[in-house]
Amino acid sequence: MIVILKPDATEEQLQHLIKKTEALGLKAHISRGVERTIIGFIGPEDVLRVTPLEVFPGVESVVPVLAPYKLVSREFKKELSVIKLKDDIHIGGKQIIVMAGPCSIESHAALLEIAKEVKKAGATVLRGGAFKPRTSPYDFQGLGEEGLKYLQEVGQATGMATITEVMDARDVELIGKYSDIYQVGARNMQNFTLLKELGMTQKPVMLKRGLSATIKELLMSAEYILSKGNFNVILCERGIRTFETATRNTLDINAVAVVKELTHLPMMVDPSHATGYWNFVGAAAKAGVAAGCDGLMIEVHSNPQQALSDGAQSLLPEKFESLMGELRLVAQAVLRQI
Ligand code: PEP
Ligand code: MN
Repeated sequence: MIVILKPDATEEQLQHLIKKTEALGLKAHISRGVERTIIGFIGPEDVLRVTPLEVFPGVESVVPVLAPYKLVSREFKKELSVIKLKDDIHIGGKQIIVMAGPCSIESHAALLEIAKEVKKAGATVLRGGAFKPRTSPYDFQGLGEEGLKYLQEVGQATGMATITEVMDARDVELIGKYSDIYQVGARNMQNFTLLKELGMTQKPVMLKRGLSATIKELLMSAEYILSKGNFNVILCERGIRTFETATRNTLDINAVAVVKELTHLPMMVDPSHATGYWNFVGAAAKAGVAAGCDGLMIEVHSNPQQALSDGAQSLLPEKFESLMGELRLVAQAVLRQI
């Protein structure tokens, strides 16, 4: 349920409405626009049959949100959300943000070397996993807190924002101390305990689409985070599992356009996990930009053959740099900027 206040509604009228609805068990999410304030109410809507919100002073209209995702929906918020990642780095505007770096943080020196290269090529966010969701328990699981320290140090040294994966609700506080953005991996898209915990922070969260998740399920997972009060959510298409085996996953390019229509949240594309092979990453990245994504996440490694994870899909820094040049042209063609 969305309540639109009259342009001249007073703060007193707003507070009165919130107090009364809280007593009915509804939780209010206030969105103050330039012209008017709108409030999204989450909770047992049937109580509104007894107490219709239209009768409250200051209320102009009440719109039922038909989509099961409420706060995430375009019905709730028409303008696209622009999310601050760090200082002057924002996602959701004209600028397409590029996040790049190794799959896993392997050492301070290796991370610094890659960071300098990707920064020079135009990436503004440094990625690197310290807690890795590996299919096999015998594969490299990440450096843990030591890796987080390297990420923070290298981020500061290069002036880049940082992003790293959080797999467990118990690590939210720890990772929050070191990283500017939380990444929820595909395998944890429906880890609802984790999503709720992240909703109680104010840090940006990049939520990746699950391996076999529908777009609706992705949006419902985002709703978990917003419903707890954190509106700084970025979505990411990273390929889904299909019958096709020539590539690691299948990039659902449709998802970019669909998500941009259904929600106000920024949408990213990860061409590395979507394809699984470095030689297809460029084509998928360019398709993502052409389709209207707000950001890209690309894996880069100085020595892919020696990488501790995802070497096959990692670009060499020089390949990344030339791809960035091509991406700038595609961005220009769709009236965006990289
Ligand atoms: C990653 O970004 O390294 C990763 C594990 O991604 P995904 O969750 O999309 O598989
Ligand atoms: Mn990876």
